[in-house]
Amino acid sequence: LGLTITVGEILVEIMATTVGAGFLSPQSFVGPFPSGAPAIFIDQVARFGGAAGIVAAVGADDFGTINVERLRADGVDVSAIATIQGKPTGSAFVRYRPDGARDFVFNITHSAAGEARMTEAARALVAKSGHVHVMGSAFAIPGIAAALVEAVATVKARGGSVSFDPNIRKELAQADEGRKLVDDVLAVTDLLLPSGDELLVAADAATEEAAVERLLNLGIGEIALKRGSAGSSHFSRQFGRVDCPAFSVEEIDPTGAGDCFGAAYLTSRRAGLAPARALLYANAAGARTVTRQGPMEGVSSREELDEFIAAAGREVG
Ligand code: ATP
Repeated sequence: LGLTITVGEILVEIMATTVGAGFLSPQSFVGPFPSGAPAIFIDQVARFGGAAGIVAAVGADDFGTINVERLRADGVDVSAIATIQGKPTGSAFVRYRPDGARDFVFNITHSAAGEARMTEAARALVAKSGHVHVMGSAFAIPGIAAALVEAVATVKARGGSVSFDPNIRKELAQADEGRKLVDDVLAVTDLLLPSGDELLVAADAATEEAAVERLLNLGIGEIALKRGSAGSSHFSRQFGRVDCPAFSVEEIDPTGAGDCFGAAYLTSRRAGLAPARALLYANAAGARTVTRQGPMEGVSSREELDEFIAAAGREVG
């Protein structure tokens, strides 16, 4: 049961090429690029060498095709991606503020992406899997949340494991039941992959130390905390705290860094690597991603990461 799966949105992303321009006047865009946090994540699992699959839905259109064909080419099991007639593939328009922040216009909930369900093909995929990755963005989408909850329960009941990236973007605002969903997932999470404030929000704590303590006490096996250009840290009872500095790169487009980090970290750990090595691969995967424009364009194979780490003079171990 080495198969890792996720359930969630597949989108195309279309990005403004001018920093600072809004959506209120015509301008140049680049794309469509294959995207959706769960799709980026699962693509990186496969490219790193892990067995990977996704439960999702696309429309019967070119935006769906570029996604499915990219995932298939990179080795992801696409048998549980449904094609929904009469609804377009999900999309997101992105613009960049001068301070580096991003604003999105999403078309997800009412697109094919919001139609991902536990179909027969999805249940067959879940039945073969030993790990489910939960994306906060996916369980903010009402129809998808139920499928995700079922996948988690099935895999967990069989002794499988769960990772959770609480990447909840403000545009995909949580309903009132959001906190309960977060708590329900935290209760079964083996690996938590927060970034920045998400650690404090997830734990409802004021400091990093208090948050880590509370989450490990909940039974979460390990935490891999993403710190952007400051690198990352691992926390667990077994290994304590392990820090890993970031690689020095020129950031072109931050999209996808957290997803690629999480996928490389999880797949490294599932392959039996120690946290220090898993963080090194994860930081390298995140760093390579930000040097490429496009959410899924910087996904790396393990060999590419080995070369990148060696070129930076860092120890692969
Ligand atoms: P996103 O939501 O944009 O996908 P995130 O907030 O979940 O990202 P980040 O902390 O931004 O995650 O990035 C994940 C990892 O990628 C970082 O821990 C770091 O190792 C690497 N990384 C991200 N940005 C940079 C950067 N500018 N330079 C070097 N490494 C980076």
